[in-house]
Amino acid sequence: MVNGLLLKKPGELTWGAVPAPEGLKEDEIKIRVIYGGICGSDVAVYKGKLTHAHYPVVAGHEILGEVIENGNQEAIQIGKRVVIQPNSYCGECEQCLSGNTNICNDKKSLGINNQGGFSEEFIISSKYVIEVPDEVTDERAVFIEPLAVIVHGFKKVPITKNTRVGIVGCGTEGMLAVATASYYGAKVTAIDVNSEKLSKAKEHYSDIEICLPDEVDENQFDIVFEVAGVKSAFEKSIDIVKPGGAIVVIGLAPMAEIPVVKLVRKEISIYGSIIYNVPDDFHKSIEFLSDDAFQIEPIISDILPVQQFAEAYEKAISGKCRKILLDFTR
Ligand SMILES: [Zn+2]
Ligand SMILES: [Zn+2]
Repeated sequence: MVNGLLLKKPGELTWGAVPAPEGLKEDEIKIRVIYGGICGSDVAVYKGKLTHAHYPVVAGHEILGEVIENGNQEAIQIGKRVVIQPNSYCGECEQCLSGNTNICNDKKSLGINNQGGFSEEFIISSKYVIEVPDEVTDERAVFIEPLAVIVHGFKKVPITKNTRVGIVGCGTEGMLAVATASYYGAKVTAIDVNSEKLSKAKEHYSDIEICLPDEVDENQFDIVFEVAGVKSAFEKSIDIVKPGGAIVVIGLAPMAEIPVVKLVRKEISIYGSIIYNVPDDFHKSIEFLSDDAFQIEPIISDILPVQQFAEAYEKAISGKCRKILLDFTR
């Protein structure tokens, strides 16, 4: 019997026995979970806000674990630490064949419409398992998946030393964008409605500027990342990007208004960016996290034993924290 966090329906999360398949197919790997990161999409599934979610579902997709069994001896060795690429893809459609597995029509996601990974152990096809190099600590490795989202967004635009980058939203993904832009030597301004989040950001990334949305003048940034996922943040991005600049939209605001005249006259480019291409974006993410100069330590708010999942979810839902990790080994 395997214990896990089962979301029976929106708002009803329990820790207990979850369905676990017997035996291992040749292409499969069994993983003992170490850490699970609670993501914005986990919160959305919990609240019943994702229309494509299926219940009951085992929650979670940001998983760091250790291989305890493999169906094929050629696969990743037992004892190695791994992370999961939690979005399935067919590998055969037009998008997959052009390397864009992230926009495969057949995509399913762990913890949303496929059984997730917040359990003591689980089995998954080796195709979705990526080995973590020994030099990356557990606390950094758990960011490989969420950072891959930012890596993908950064590929849309040219960012080098001194590019003026505005990042709207300072949650986990926003802070990972701050970390990445800082690593590139860009001139970074972090923008959020929560001044506490801003001062925390400034504490750890001393070379960035911080400001509330109302304090930002128009036409300031070469590149703006919209990572807040709210209507006003998207609309603000159009104001604050320079003429000729670009906006990368990672946040998922359901709807917003676009002042078309401004968009056209300023010649703004807007890029949507969803998750990542695998394995490339994961490999880049691992490369960043292997370098101690890539600073992400301030991004963890709390690490709680999985038995305290109710408190962990409450913190994640509050919107006041950054990454909350569940520890499955305690
Ligand atoms: Zn996530
Ligand atoms: Zn496909």
